Formats: sequence, structure tokens, C-alpha cells
Amino acid sequence: MEAIKFVIAGHVDHGKSTLIGRLLFDTDSLPPDKIEEIRKASENLGRETQFAYLLDYLEEERRQGITIETTQVFFKSGGKEYVIIDAPGHVEFVKNMVTGASHAQAAVLIIDANEGIKEQTKRHAYIVSLLGINQLIVVVNKMDLRNFSKKAFDLVKKDTEKFLEGIGTPASVYVPISALKGENITGKSKKMAWYDGPAFLEALGTLKNKKHGENKPLIFPVQDVYKIKDKRIAAGRLEAGIIKKGQSIKILPHNRITRVKSIEKHPCQVDKATPGESIGIVTQDSVFLNRGDIVCEKGKEPLFADSFKANIFWLSKHDFHKNQKLVLRCATQETACRLEKIEKRIDSSTLEIIEENSSRLRNLEVGEVLIRVKKPIAVKRFGDVQELGRFVLVKDENTCAGGIITSLA
Ligand code: GDP
Repeated sequence: MEAIKFVIAGHVDHGKSTLIGRLLFDTDSLPPDKIEEIRKASENLGRETQFAYLLDYLEEERRQGITIETTQVFFKSGGKEYVIIDAPGHVEFVKNMVTGASHAQAAVLIIDANEGIKEQTKRHAYIVSLLGINQLIVVVNKMDLRNFSKKAFDLVKKDTEKFLEGIGTPASVYVPISALKGENITGKSKKMAWYDGPAFLEALGTLKNKKHGENKPLIFPVQDVYKIKDKRIAAGRLEAGIIKKGQSIKILPHNRITRVKSIEKHPCQVDKATPGESIGIVTQDSVFLNRGDIVCEKGKEPLFADSFKANIFWLSKHDFHKNQKLVLRCATQETACRLEKIEKRIDSSTLEIIEENSSRLRNLEVGEVLIRVKKPIAVKRFGDVQELGRFVLVKDENTCAGGIITSLA
């Protein structure tokens, strides 16, 4: 069983850390520093354990300098496993989300009952919608400060509903809570008898662990190649389709054909793998795979495109001016690119269109853009295959924007 990954988004001080602490406490889970300790200990154990960790996509993101200080917080409840992908601050959250590095399947929006939905929360919600994450739970926190009043809850709910509908990502449920006092977290609060919905952990229990893309053509971007004993193992995350032992595969961009000799999934071998799994494959002939290669099936290759439409979120403090040169990274591919058109500049908090056919983008703005890459790369619409549909834009080794591909030109 795979854990359900989610992010908690919200304005600073609205109670994210308290909620995480409360979840860990109420579910008797391991504190995050213990997990880090275990990870460090295994890293010292040598190559083969390290291999398992290198297969962790977070390592890959870290190396690309995309994720900064993301922690994974684990807990179990009602027979399900959960991982909270946590970034310490607003900037880190935005960066982590926009680059898709969190791989979150759901989001929890936390809103202070006293303050209501604030600008930062709106921006976070916007990003969640931009990334196509459509499982959303809203918790209205600090209800103790509002005497657990239904009226206070309804007010925040109404406002938030309006905003979320505007961005096309309605929440499945609104839960009034007090993270501090532990009300409506593990079980129904007696202090809010007027509320007839689920407690927070029950609401989490309704989230689906979405396995996308089993029926899609195979896509396996190679992150790294390791030599362990006499094996050459191409490691990465299976992004779409199913890969089976013995199956014929094609390797892009060199168009070489070979077969899968074995599939390694630490600590053993498996006969097949499904999307989302981190694996290593060994090929039959002495076909050498390299970082950046894409394994697919003959006749079902992904499209190589040199331009596409995308929504990007401008992270950099420096404005973007048209014709600035950038580097685009998509899965393990990298190429120079230009933003040929900025069709719309959008304020990510108010959702207002600032300008059409613009020549610039500023910090925290969303752009609907047309991108032209120098070297054609394998891409997909984000809705089809996430990993080939999301990218980051880099300038001088700094990530300045993240985005998703909305259509192939
Ligand atoms: P974060 O910045 O979103 O991580 O917010 P924190 O979890 O650090 O909480 C900010 C402040 O709000 C702290 O002083 C918390 O004790 C307080 N707080 C969090 N949740 C509640 C709550 O349910 N009720 C009350 N009264 N205070 C809360």
C-alpha cells in the first residue's frame, strides 16, 4: 500500500505547525527528526542502501536544486499511511509546489477562523489548482477563539467557497477545528455539535490514492545509471504505463531497441512495476542507458516538440523581460528556451488579468505563455503525464519559474 501524500497550505500563523504536531501526537507517530536520523544512519551503511535512497525522487529534486528544505512527515491512521510534504515558509512552499517537486495528491488548506482567507492562502490555493490537484480539504482553525460558533465558521466557509469556485477547485469538505485543543481532529467535537460533517482524520480517510496512467503508453525517464557489482542499473521513477520483465523497450533519443532483463525494486527484484514506483532496470543487450534518456515502447513514443503552451508561476524576485534566455528542465531533460509570447499576466492572489500580450512577468505572477525550446524534447500535457508535463525555468542555476504544459502547439 502506498502512502497518500498531501501538503498543508495556508497563511503564516494560521496553525499549520500546530496541526502537524497534533496529527503526530494523536496518531502516536514518529517525530520528523527521528526519520532524518534513520535516513542519515542508512546513508552511512554504504552503496547499496544509498542506492535505495537515491531512488527516492526527493534526492533527485534536491540535486537539481529545486526542493529546499522539504521535510516529509509520516503518520498512520485508520489503516492508511500518510505523508505530509512540508516546506518551512511561504517562498519554499510556492517553490516546492510550483516545481511539482512535492508530488502531492491532495492539499489541505488551513484558515484561521479569526482572520479568514488571506492573500497568501489564495496564492497557495491557486498553485494547487494550477497543478491539477483536485482533492482539497479546508480546515477552519482556532475555532476555540470564536467560541466554536457556527456563524463564524459559516462566514469563513462562504468566502473561501467563492474563491475556490473561481479557480475551479472546490473543496470536498470544510472542517471546523481547533488544532491546539484537539477538537474535530481524531473524532467529532462535542463543542461543535452543530457540525454534521467528518472530523479531520475521517476527512483525510476519504482521499484517494490516485494511480494515474497505468493504461497509458510506457514512460520511464532515466535519472541515473549505477554500477552495482556487475550490473548496470538505470534508475528512475516510472511515470506512465506498466513495465514488465522481458518486455521490448525503445530508448530515446537514440532510438535503440532492447529488452528488460530485470526490474530492481530495493531490496529485491520484481516482475512488473506501475506508475509512481521508483525502480531500476537492467537491459538485456549491452545497450547503455544514460541520464536523460527516456524508455518507452516502439510505436507509442512520446511526442518531441519544440514549442508548447504553458502556465508558469514566476518565482524570481527579478522581473522577466521578453527575449531573456532561460534553461528549461523537464523530467531529466534540459534545453535552452525562450518565452515567445506572454498571452496573459495574472495576479495569483486576486486572479485579475494584469495585462494581455505582455512582455514581462513579475514576482508571484502567473503567465499564460508560449514557450519555444532550442532542442526538441519529449513532452506531454500535464493532464496526461505529470512528469513530462511539468518543468522549471532556470537562469544562472536559479529556479525562476515553474510551470505546467497546457497544450502542445
Ligand atoms: P504556522 O505558522 O501556520 O505553522 O502556525 P503555528 O502552528 O505556529 O501557530 C501560530 C500560533 O497560533 C501559535 O501561537 C499557536 O499556538 C496558535 N494556534 C494554532 N492553532 C491554534 C488553535 O487551534 N487555537 C488557538 N487558540 N491557537 C492556535
